Amino acid sequence: MSAAVQALARDVIVAVVGAGTMGAGIAQVAAAAGHRVRLADASHEAAQAAHARIRAALESRVARGRMDSSACVALLERIEVAPGIDQLGRAGLVIEAIFEDLQAKQALFRQLEATMAPEAIFATNTSSVSVTAIASVLEHPERLVGMHFFNPAPVMKLVEVISGLQTAPSVADTIHATALSWQKKPVHARSTPGFIVNRVARPFYAEALRVVEEGAARPEQVDVLLTAGAGFRMGPFRLMDLIGNDVNLAVTRSTFQAYFNDPRYRPSLLQAELVAAGRLGRKTGRGFYDDAQPVASPPPLAPAPLRQPVQVSGRLAPIAGLLGRMTSLGIECHVSESDAPAIIRYGRAALQMTHGLPASLLDRGADHGWVVFDLADDYGTVTDLGIAIQDGAPAAVAADAQALLAGLGIRAHVLDDTPGLVVARTLAMLANEAAEAWLAGIATAQGIDDAMRFGVNYPRGPFEWAERMGARYFVDVLDGLCASYGDARYRVSVKLRRMAASRV
Ligand code: NAD
Repeated sequence: MSAAVQALARDVIVAVVGAGTMGAGIAQVAAAAGHRVRLADASHEAAQAAHARIRAALESRVARGRMDSSACVALLERIEVAPGIDQLGRAGLVIEAIFEDLQAKQALFRQLEATMAPEAIFATNTSSVSVTAIASVLEHPERLVGMHFFNPAPVMKLVEVISGLQTAPSVADTIHATALSWQKKPVHARSTPGFIVNRVARPFYAEALRVVEEGAARPEQVDVLLTAGAGFRMGPFRLMDLIGNDVNLAVTRSTFQAYFNDPRYRPSLLQAELVAAGRLGRKTGRGFYDDAQPVASPPPLAPAPLRQPVQVSGRLAPIAGLLGRMTSLGIECHVSESDAPAIIRYGRAALQMTHGLPASLLDRGADHGWVVFDLADDYGTVTDLGIAIQDGAPAAVAADAQALLAGLGIRAHVLDDTPGLVVARTLAMLANEAAEAWLAGIATAQGIDDAMRFGVNYPRGPFEWAERMGARYFVDVLDGLCASYGDARYRVSVKLRRMAASRV
């Protein structure tokens, strides 16, 4: 963005068309920033109801001492319900938030083009319709840009500023600067299916669904492993139930179709079955979870003393957090550092971090059985870790692996021997998707990280994870998954390979 581009002045009137969930929230954001807002809807009652919802939300903030009552009154006075779409006055920006339908959006903007001043900027809050396609019916398609807020708009920081093929860069820059001045976190993106967030987030759901579909783990285990192991605020199954499995599946289906059936976005039969059964999630009382049967959280695990010393060999840096735990717990540990992958031996178990292959494919030594353990964002603090035991290993192997982890205060979840377990495959696939989006010039790496952190509250951006774990590690995991499944879904982005090579 050029430094000269200014945000819209505070005296510019902002019109919001479509006063549903998003329109009401966006109107509140613009008014909070000091703009006069005209709110319109095909249904006048809907616009009035939106005004009443905004009033109720603000009054509750005043009641909780979060807002000054005079500021509340002033903000509400700045929002006016317009009697009709043709009465948006001299608005300098119109933000459309009507139904998600290309023809409806095109018809609305044509109508607006006929009545509004030529310098007014047109913005669409679409989540999935092509900005290029919406603008294509306009005489001046360069004036239209995507301004994609996230729900709830007054709370979520991210605004994807989406340029269609014909959007004028100055228009995108003005909207970017304006969103910034509205205390949002704007990120430039190119109009492509799913933009940034709805595309890059697909593996978060897809890998979880695949692991459960294979019978390797239960939904609640996957949720625990991703929240405890990677710091996500909510696991994918809880989130799919919250979003609605019908809505989540529809987004996956449309992304899959829009990318010409690329297997990276392939929908899940497991989720399709759930939708067919009417188990949509929170809104029907049952999805992956049954709201009538809450899942109890297990009590914290106190470290249990170990019976014998631990032997550690190989590259120590990736498992430094585990070694730190051993030191602080006073566990006797014999270390020999080398350039080979790290192996932790305890009794009959030889534990290795997953590199995307099942434990059963590793060569077994005479005296031990292989156990692979999952990736964690921080091995120094992780409470729950997925492990997989080599097929046919004696029971002592699993018992020793669990005893070792319990000794470190970690609850081991024994999963079926699925490649890449849960956290490693999910983070590697998120980084891979982010790398593909970056490669295609959809956004910058920093923009993608910001989008995932501020749009869906990821604890870190995918590139930040690649930096932290090493892009080389993610490439290894993905190559392992590719070899294990023979599925093009796991093909490695050339951008991720280049990142890995540049850090050797
Ligand atoms: P909604 O169903 O809550 O509200 C849509 C409103 O638009 C309704 O009040 C309806 O009466 C009105 N409307 C429909 N056609 C109209 C027209 N031609 N002219 C004027 N008003 C019209 O929908 P929503 O969830 O607020 O979504 C609106 C847009 O925002 C969609 O494009 C959606 O994809 C996008 N979006 C939604 C979310 C979300 O989580 N709900 C998040 C980001 C973006």
